[in-house]
Amino acid sequence: MEIEGTGITQQKASGKIVRHEETDFSIEEKSDKTAEDEKERFESAKEEARSQLEEAAEKTGEKSEGDEGDIFKAQIQFLEDPQITSGIEDNIEEGITAEAAVRKGFEDPISQLESQEGRMKERADDLRDVRDRLISILVGEERTNLSDIPDEAVIVAENLKPSDTSEMDRSKVEGLVTAKGSRTSHVAILSKSMGIPAVVGTGTLEGLKEGEEVLVDGENGNVVVDPSEEQLKQVKKSEKAEVIRERVATGDGKKIEVAANVANHEEVKQAAEKGADGIGLYRTEFMFLDREQPPTEEEHYENYVDALDQFPDDRVIVRTMDIGGDKPVPYLDLEETDNPFLGKRGIRLAFDSEGEELFDTQMKALLRAAASENGSNLGVMFPMVSSVEEFDSALEKVEELEQELEEEEKDYARPELGLMVETPSTVQMAGELAERADFLSIGTNDLTQYTMAASRTDSEVAELQNPLYPSVLRSIKQTVEKGRENDAWVGMCGEMAGNPQLTELLVGLGLDELSMSSGVVPGVKSEIKEIEQEKSSSKAEEVLQVSSIEEVKDLLD
Ligand code: PEP
Ligand code: MG
Repeated sequence: MEIEGTGITQQKASGKIVRHEETDFSIEEKSDKTAEDEKERFESAKEEARSQLEEAAEKTGEKSEGDEGDIFKAQIQFLEDPQITSGIEDNIEEGITAEAAVRKGFEDPISQLESQEGRMKERADDLRDVRDRLISILVGEERTNLSDIPDEAVIVAENLKPSDTSEMDRSKVEGLVTAKGSRTSHVAILSKSMGIPAVVGTGTLEGLKEGEEVLVDGENGNVVVDPSEEQLKQVKKSEKAEVIRERVATGDGKKIEVAANVANHEEVKQAAEKGADGIGLYRTEFMFLDREQPPTEEEHYENYVDALDQFPDDRVIVRTMDIGGDKPVPYLDLEETDNPFLGKRGIRLAFDSEGEELFDTQMKALLRAAASENGSNLGVMFPMVSSVEEFDSALEKVEELEQELEEEEKDYARPELGLMVETPSTVQMAGELAERADFLSIGTNDLTQYTMAASRTDSEVAELQNPLYPSVLRSIKQTVEKGRENDAWVGMCGEMAGNPQLTELLVGLGLDELSMSSGVVPGVKSEIKEIEQEKSSSKAEEVLQVSSIEEVKDLLD
């Protein structure tokens, strides 16, 4: 039996199911105490919750698990929210217990967040988490937790909230499966930071029984109950690998840079821990989301200098804001469009009255960061370039901003400049673009979307969102060749780069660098060491000859 969902972390794992159920608290509604007494109980529960959350933030921060420490810090803010607190106190005045008042007081804020989109919607889970922590303290009942689990566990739950996982013995977890959740939910962040596969948003957990063996396929987004021997053998190949700190080469000596994709300071730290050879894609648009005002030049500067300092001997490629598409920003007044993926996004916003100032501020900070102590390793790339004119305009803009910095008497330097190859038009013009750029980085997520004309967020066409289609593979090959002819190095930072089962093909296609989620860096590094460059090139040649994805898959098997 197979259950479909969204795959997180491009790996497979197997293990035995551990079902995690949410605690169903029994709550007394009517209070036999005075409102003052109930308020006091609420206040001391709040105190206790705060100290638990501070401890959890510290603990997860120390373990440097991606955004997790910050999640608990955000939960403390929810706990202190004056509106929620006064709502709860008003409820207590009506003669109910503190626990009933807490349950009621969180209802509206939770549904308000739930009615929003994207990351804000996910925050509703944090509110539930804070609510349940308070109730658990008030009723004196422990929530079910994951502190005592057997080895090789696959945790199966409706949803996993930060409090569920902060106590979890991570060394025993092989995989995660949740009925709810999406790529941006807590469980996805956790899965990536632990480097273990997850399948989220399955909709159902039917047929997933305690103790049963399952295969969690984070690559294809499915869960296989009672997998065959053959399927389990494949898992062995992609099992968690040891961290490899040094740079790696194929068996016959071709060096491949294995870098990390990151979105914030925590992920940069984690990339270093996982032995990444630098940062291949810093998705800076996340700096612009979930806030009221855009980041200042100083904030940008400090962020980039911090990344450069954490990788003093490696390249750090920062992508300028890729806002628009599936990543809207609240303070930008962008017109609603039927098709945001085909609208103003990425570099297009740099030349737009709405986005220009944001871009200029960011780019100036980057030019300054390039002059910092470890700044000579900085690379800057532009997203969603679709014509040579656009890249030329971006270069002109860089020159103008350098001029401004000159006038402001600030230190600056020119970093390596490159672009994302993510549209079919860029592939066609890759030669001309590579003449102008220092490097090209192939974004297979978008390149597949635009080549196959299949939205990356529409599950109805998920089948077409596969970079193994011959048209996408030939586009990759063409980009690599054009880059090489024009002395530009060529990397790949789409999800495809982080799939160890495709590493041989990618090496064979001639990529110089692969950039991926930190969790999969060790697996890809160890895979590269097993590969013979010559053999992989002939395999890639063969793959490039066939005309259907089925034939490609057959050859790769
Ligand atoms: C891509 O499109 O492959 C890519 C790496 O960029 P993003 O996923 O951020 O659009
Ligand atoms: Mg992209």
